[in-house]
Amino acid sequence: MAATALVPERLDRFMARANAIYYASHDPFADFTTSPEISQVFGEIIGLWAAVTWQLLGSPTPVVLAEAGPGRGTLMADALRAIRGVAPDFAAALRVHLIETSPRLRSVQAARIPGATWHDDLGTVPDEPLILLANEFLDALPIRQFVRRGDGWTERFVAGGEWTEQPADPDDVPTGRATGEGDIVELNEASRAFVGAVAARVNRQTGAALFLDYGPRSSAAGDSLQALADKRPVNPLTVAGSADLTAHVDFADLAAIARARGAAVQGPDTQGAFLSALGLFQRTERLSRSQPAKAPELAQAAKRLADPEAMGHLFKVLALRSPAAPGLPGLQSP
Ligand code: SAH
Repeated sequence: MAATALVPERLDRFMARANAIYYASHDPFADFTTSPEISQVFGEIIGLWAAVTWQLLGSPTPVVLAEAGPGRGTLMADALRAIRGVAPDFAAALRVHLIETSPRLRSVQAARIPGATWHDDLGTVPDEPLILLANEFLDALPIRQFVRRGDGWTERFVAGGEWTEQPADPDDVPTGRATGEGDIVELNEASRAFVGAVAARVNRQTGAALFLDYGPRSSAAGDSLQALADKRPVNPLTVAGSADLTAHVDFADLAAIARARGAAVQGPDTQGAFLSALGLFQRTERLSRSQPAKAPELAQAAKRLADPEAMGHLFKVLALRSPAAPGLPGLQSP
């Protein structure tokens, strides 16, 4: 059992193992709710974003429409429905590729998205023109944590359901964050590798990517590891494999890495600004007119996605694109 390993295990290895057990054995959506599950308009707007992006990229045909960590497949199903409605030429050009490690979620996705192809990671996704989407994917990737002790650093390990610390290699510790005694600094190597690889692809050939996730706009010190079970926070260590483990996404860090790998970067902007700019409220209103009985529920869902006090501010949007492509919709250009 993941929870009872007595040999100290580095936090990122513990988190990777715990989440692999978790996603393979649970319906994650009993424990937390994500934007596409809140309103169908979320996935529809992202589908329309992808359609406009495809045109701005010069309508490459064929094109890979990829999603990382598709969960129940709701975002992609809603996006494809919207795309078929407004952009039949894009619908005909796209091939759906899904990056998903959980066999359980793959079968849920297969029922919603016929004709898709699955991958364990980006490496096997065809190296062709690409539009990649990822909602709440990066936050599930494993982090390392370093603790300031005296004038040095320790790294956090897990043993027997408790924290332990071991001396850290100072070269591994991200620089430029607060460094008071006991401060925690996080490092998400898997997110860096993923975003860096996507950036290198869209630099090499036509493409764009959209990452939506939660986290501050600029890098900060602090422990953001969170475990949710049954929609409530629980101890992340004692329940390994029975709760969803996530951490804040460091958007400033990832934007810098994407730039260094040659992508043009837009954002991070807030999810509220992005969705509002792309017509969240107008689409919600139009949908409400055709389904009056659902109108109050749809309006409340839109507010939850965009309101600063709900998901509108904590959630951010980051877009990458080929350096030659024009600015993409919904995000401020630098
Ligand atoms: N995007 C969905 C689901 C978010 S939950 C939504 O918004 O509802 C995180 C998703 O990422 C799940 O599908 C999970 O199985 C997948 N996932 C987690 N770690 C992964 C990894 N290392 N590689 C590929 N997929 C992963």
